[in-house]
Amino acid sequence: MPLVPMRQILDEAAKGGYGVGAFNVNNMEQIQAIMQAANDTNSPVIIQASRGALKYSKLIYLKKLMEAATEEFPQIPVSMHLDHGNSVETCQMAIDLGFTSVMIDGSLAEDGKTPNSYEQNVEITQKVVALAHPLGVTVEAELGCLGGIEDGHGAGLSAEEVNDHLTNPVQAEEFVKLTNVDALAVAIGTSHGAYKSGRKDPKTGEVLPPVLAMDRIHEIHKRMPNCHMVMHGSSSVPKELVDIINQFGGKMPGTFGISLEQIQDGIKHGVRKINVDTDSRLAITGAIRKVFFEQPNKFDPRDYLKPARDAAYLVYVERMKAFGQAGHAGDYQPTTLDAIKKLYA
Ligand SMILES: [Zn+2]
Repeated sequence: MPLVPMRQILDEAAKGGYGVGAFNVNNMEQIQAIMQAANDTNSPVIIQASRGALKYSKLIYLKKLMEAATEEFPQIPVSMHLDHGNSVETCQMAIDLGFTSVMIDGSLAEDGKTPNSYEQNVEITQKVVALAHPLGVTVEAELGCLGGIEDGHGAGLSAEEVNDHLTNPVQAEEFVKLTNVDALAVAIGTSHGAYKSGRKDPKTGEVLPPVLAMDRIHEIHKRMPNCHMVMHGSSSVPKELVDIINQFGGKMPGTFGISLEQIQDGIKHGVRKINVDTDSRLAITGAIRKVFFEQPNKFDPRDYLKPARDAAYLVYVERMKAFGQAGHAGDYQPTTLDAIKKLYA
C-alpha cells in the first residue's frame, strides 16, 4: 500500500470516534517498532519527522525506510507527516520527498523560535495550503504556542509562559475558515519534551503535573465539530520509564507528562492526532542504559538496539490501544493523493 493522505486517516478517526498516535522517527529501529506495533494491534498510524530528523537521516534514508515500511505491512494505512515545518520551502521539500502530509507551524517565524503574529500565521498557512492541496497533501497548522523546544524548534516558553499563548477558540474558528487547513494543532498548556511542568508544590518543592486548558478543546469542538485537532507535546512520560533511566546511571529529575485520561478526554472532543515523541525516546534510552550497565562487556550495537526497539514497541502498542486506533486498520479502503486532490478542488 502506498502512503495514504493523513486527511483520510483523520476523517476515518473522526467517524470512528478515536485518536491516532503520530510518532516521531529518526531511524530504522523506531520505524520498525511503530510498524510492528501497528501490525500487531491492527492500527492505522501516522509517522512523522521533524526538520531535525530529516537532517539527521539525510532525507533519502528516511524516504527509503518509509517505502520499506509500507512494503512490509501493505495492509496498514500509514501516512508520512512533516512535523513543525518552518517555511513554504521546507514543506515543499517534504512533499517532493513523498510525504503525504505537512505541518506548517506559522505560530512561529521561520527561525522556529520567535512567535509570529496571527496575520503572519494566516498568510504562511494559506501559502502552504495553496501548495499542498492541489497535490492531495494534507496540511496541519498551529494556532497559539507550545512550551519547550523540540529538535531545536520552539519558543522555549516556560510552563508559566505557555498560559499567555493558549489557542483562542474564536480565533481558531476564523483561522480554519481563512486557511482551509485539514488539522489544527492547539496550544492548551502542553510543552514539548520530558519537562512539561514549571509548577512546584510551595511546601515541599516537589514538581507538580502541568495544568491543561482542556476547556479550550471543548470550546473549539463545540464551535467546529468537524475540525480535527492535534495535541502536541503529548507524551505521558511514564514514571516507570524514567525510573529505568535513573536506575541505570541517568539523571532525569522532575519529569511530568500528559495523562492518558486527559488525552482521552481530548479525543472525545475532536482531538484526532496525538503527537508522541518523548515516550519512545525514554524507552529506547532506558533499554540501552540497562544493557550498558548490566553487561559492560557488550559492544555489538545489536545487543542494545534490539532491546531498545522492543522497549519502544511496547510504548507504541500501549498508546495505540489507549488512543483507540487499535483494530481500525481494516475499516476502510485507503485513498490516494490523486483521489483526494479532486475533493479539495
Ligand atoms: Zn510539536
